[in-house]
Amino acid sequence: MKKLIIAFMVFFLNAANLHFSLYKKEGLPGNTLLVIGGIHGNEPGGYYAPSFLVRFYEIKKGSLWVVPNLNFDSIIKYRRGIYGDMNRKFAFIAKTDKDYEIVADIKKIILNPQVDLILNLHDGHGFYRDSWQNSIFNPAAWGQACIIDQEKIKTNKFGNLGEIARKVAQKLNTKLTKDYHCFNVKNTHTKFKDEQMRLSLTYFAITHGKPAFAIETSKNIKDLPTKVYYQLKAIEEFMKIMNIEFKRDFELTIPAIKKLLKKEEYVYINGNTLLPVKNISKVIRFFPMTQKNPEIKSKNPLVTVVKEKNYYVLYEGFHRRAVLFPQYFENFCKIKSVNVEIDGVKKEIKIPSIVKVKNYFKVLSNKRVNVIGYSSKKNEANVKIIKKDVAKRYSVDKKGNIYRVEIYDKKSFCGMLLVDFGG
Ligand SMILES: [Zn+2]
Repeated sequence: MKKLIIAFMVFFLNAANLHFSLYKKEGLPGNTLLVIGGIHGNEPGGYYAPSFLVRFYEIKKGSLWVVPNLNFDSIIKYRRGIYGDMNRKFAFIAKTDKDYEIVADIKKIILNPQVDLILNLHDGHGFYRDSWQNSIFNPAAWGQACIIDQEKIKTNKFGNLGEIARKVAQKLNTKLTKDYHCFNVKNTHTKFKDEQMRLSLTYFAITHGKPAFAIETSKNIKDLPTKVYYQLKAIEEFMKIMNIEFKRDFELTIPAIKKLLKKEEYVYINGNTLLPVKNISKVIRFFPMTQKNPEIKSKNPLVTVVKEKNYYVLYEGFHRRAVLFPQYFENFCKIKSVNVEIDGVKKEIKIPSIVKVKNYFKVLSNKRVNVIGYSSKKNEANVKIIKKDVAKRYSVDKKGNIYRVEIYDKKSFCGMLLVDFGG
């Protein structure tokens, strides 16, 4: 009986949802736009675009609230909804539903009095057209459309949904990369015609007096940078209509988006270790873990680390980037920095962080230092180490440039830095 209870507890621990994050970017007083991405996990345009808002946009006037990863459990699995369609759970949801907490929490944010307008982002099937052309271009399709539930709602601001949507579509149509990508407005006439849509997030919003739209890029556009481009264009048009002033630190073009999607970034685990996300080796062994439910930080809100069986998986959106096999340690000796001699210069290096090394490094410490892949000694503190001294198969990146330097005090793990010989 005792065993059964333990099994159940483990099950519950593993079953807890990954919760979404909310980023608030506030400028001078003004209107507030809430952008919700990732309600459907197999629609990456809908969550990569808001991850760009989080990282690369600054708001000067008004506010931009971003939930980039609403259905995070489904995003990492690249499934529409692993517990069923979350966008059909806004009229009613059972307390036992696995999405219950997520739906309840996002409803509270939607109803926050500060929020003036809501966008729910998707990649829909086909290309929406007013009249039937073929199985891809037709009125039943959802792609490349701004979706409204009805023409108008009664509110002080932005209640003219149809007019706003048409304005946004018109602006988008001046910036198409291919003519057939053109945007249209799809009115689902939810109240009278669409029983399914009455269960949706936008219908919940408009029936509570909040203007709401869905933006749908197309599942038939396979190129992620192109989808992100259209989503961001649409969001920017909404911000302009709402007098929200913004600045972004990249040029809004498909090549620039592509480049940013490939750019390396880092994940910080438990405040004492870090790893690259994009070019990471597929398997990392004996990774020091000081907490079973790790605390994850990354500038990219789509990055997370999830425990699966006896290992952890590093995800970036739906990409399964690496498997980490943990070695658990106490963390009594947490350190903030360590002195390192790098190519002849002594530096105080923050823990955890990554440092560039051209020729050699030497960790100046009275603690035990373990350079993973350097095998000749038990303690590598105060030892001059060059790239050739470390076995390539221990690198944390695919190119064989980045190595783990771990600091211990007896049996306690203190922290990690990465040395990058990549020039
Ligand atoms: Zn969708």
